[in-house]
Amino acid sequence: MPAAVLPQPSSPVSDSCLFCRIVAGEIPAQIVAQNETCVAFRDLSPQAPLHVLVVPRQHLASLGVATDPALIGEVALLAAQVAREAGYAERGFRTVVNDGADAGQTVHHLHMHVLAGRPLAWPPG
Ligand code: AMP
Ligand code: ZN
Repeated sequence: MPAAVLPQPSSPVSDSCLFCRIVAGEIPAQIVAQNETCVAFRDLSPQAPLHVLVVPRQHLASLGVATDPALIGEVALLAAQVAREAGYAERGFRTVVNDGADAGQTVHHLHMHVLAGRPLAWPPG
């Protein structure tokens, strides 16, 4: 396989990545917030009344390969902003980042789930 098509942990955009394609506007999504660094859109299969995914515009496979604290901070701050703007500052909300097989990561572009609007059990399954 030529090096150009090997999956890269971090690159500006990946043609084969679902969330890169959402960020690029090639696949429709219900965008709820965005800024220079990140995009927040509704999960296709919501697990709570509020279920939004916050992704960096830049392709990054997972939290485990992240190196830029500012980028992770931007993702987390937009997640909190989404929860606040949806009215869940008082009741509370949960953020989740699944990394790798045991955690059930299915899309290999870093994303922070924002869940709110129902009691969320702990520990998670
Ligand atoms: P994870 O299992 O942590 O990798 O989460 C991936 C999430 O992406 C799941 O909650 C899916 O429901 C969600 N998802 C998959 N495809 C889409 C899509 N086209 N638009 C929005 N959310 C999606
Ligand atoms: Zn991507």
